[in-house]
Amino acid sequence: MPLPEERLAKPIELAGCPEVTIIEWKDSGVLHVTSKPHPKLIAELGALCRSVVDELDRRMAVAGVTMPVVAPLRLTMSVIPPGRGPRELNDEEGRMRVEGSVRGLTLVGSYWGSFRHAFIHNGVGEQDGRGGLTLAMDARRVFAHELFHAFVHQRGVRWHFEAEGGEELHARKFTESLGFGE
Ligand SMILES: [Zn+2]
Repeated sequence: MPLPEERLAKPIELAGCPEVTIIEWKDSGVLHVTSKPHPKLIAELGALCRSVVDELDRRMAVAGVTMPVVAPLRLTMSVIPPGRGPRELNDEEGRMRVEGSVRGLTLVGSYWGSFRHAFIHNGVGEQDGRGGLTLAMDARRVFAHELFHAFVHQRGVRWHFEAEGGEELHARKFTESLGFGE
């Protein structure tokens, strides 16, 4: 979780998607417009968020999966640099302390169920070729992937995916089905 001093003074709400609030946003220290919380990127994240949650609800309905938990989905999010430095996404000695088989892997995102908090790496924007900004495909994939984990945990449908190859496999298949890659 972000330290108090790491939190945005004004959290970023995503228009159209009250499920997610971005409470921390750090660029990589490089003054580059693609790593800033530009309103265009925030608007695209909101639209993506809405379509991901609605699509997951739709797929659960199609699959006939009853959702024991119907409380609203809610998570906070940090957008932080992907490096291994202190407080970055792969700070394995500190903030993101991990053990076992995942240690040494380079994370691009992570969902912490007990905190209802997701981290995504700050590779959010890219130039769209017309001088504007758009969400990078990689950012769409990571955002949708972590939202999938949050959905599965908070809607109480983990059992459905565990029975069919595992939640992680399904998270990857889900983003691929949306055209964002595995
Ligand atoms: Zn995952």
